[in-house]
Amino acid sequence: MTNTADLIPARLSAEIAAQALRAPQIPPLRPADRSALLDRCRRLLRERNAVLVAHYYTDDDLQYLAEESGGCVSDSLEMARFGRDHPATTLVVAGVRFMGETAKILSPEKRVLMPTLDAQCSLDLGCPAPEFSAFCDAHPDRTVVVYANTSAEVKARADWMVTSGIALKIVEHLHAQGKKILWAPDKHLGNYVQRMTGADMLMWGGSCVVHEAFRANALEDLMKQHPDAKILVHPESPEPVWRLADVVGSTTALINAVRDIDADKFIVATDRGIFYKMRQLAPHKTLIEAPTVGEGATCVSCAHCPWMGMNGLANLADTLETGRNEIHVDPGVGARAVHSIQRMLDFAHEHGIGTARK
Ligand code: SF4
Repeated sequence: MTNTADLIPARLSAEIAAQALRAPQIPPLRPADRSALLDRCRRLLRERNAVLVAHYYTDDDLQYLAEESGGCVSDSLEMARFGRDHPATTLVVAGVRFMGETAKILSPEKRVLMPTLDAQCSLDLGCPAPEFSAFCDAHPDRTVVVYANTSAEVKARADWMVTSGIALKIVEHLHAQGKKILWAPDKHLGNYVQRMTGADMLMWGGSCVVHEAFRANALEDLMKQHPDAKILVHPESPEPVWRLADVVGSTTALINAVRDIDADKFIVATDRGIFYKMRQLAPHKTLIEAPTVGEGATCVSCAHCPWMGMNGLANLADTLETGRNEIHVDPGVGARAVHSIQRMLDFAHEHGIGTARK
């Protein structure tokens, strides 16, 4: 049984769309500037005893630097786990705000910096903690499961936090125990999980501005032009889109699919930042962006997250130089939020499964 609660006021939806449009994008660098900034960042990372952890959706330069300097490029949770286990005393998180918060929750003793504190996520913005808490209070019979793309306060209110790579397994597990679920914030991912598990899920009505923009009709047209292509879709996309996929999965699952599937061509419905890692693993394969609602029009969030695009080498160097943009999480909130995260990590460990990956 599925039920989506339409709890996001139109005013908030409009504000989120406006914020996405206003997110200042990092302009391309001239080769000499890029080289100088890379050198500066390398030096500062060493001098500050810092390690760079970058999300798959960030700029190619940041992914390159993170790997080259001994940091990591991954999904939000693996970024936080890597940071927790790394000996550096400062973590620099290139991504969006909830990723910095998750890193801080798992490493409260470390300094966590971000190139910008203004990089948000439409899922996080669309699930304000007070309203979400009231929603939970109104349904005390349900187990609260939240996606990683939420604030520390929302995680603190949850029984479980999940990533897209483990959501099916955890919901299956809860469903088998006869539990009814309250799911937040992504209605499309929630719908996918509900369809696959048959669980009783009451859902918050949030969505990702990037994945919601993919279009099934246009994808079908593109598939006719490339009948030999395999279709890869992230489950934050609407159901008509993922119904067309050969593989529906987390960022890591989609990257592995390009490497492992015996095909030369892939149409990919997720943020195009992921192409950097896909090309690294399968340099001879052809990757095509799935079509979006903004095809042929101006659309800052079509196939690329406008907030991820706020991270670049220049603001990374500035953050390392000045120590600005530090993430703080209220210790009480962090202590509660860590339970929902740890529960997932323990489940993954017990069941021998990877937790990835947003
Ligand atoms: S791509 Fe979507 S879900 Fe990911 S950070 Fe951007 S807005 Fe959030």
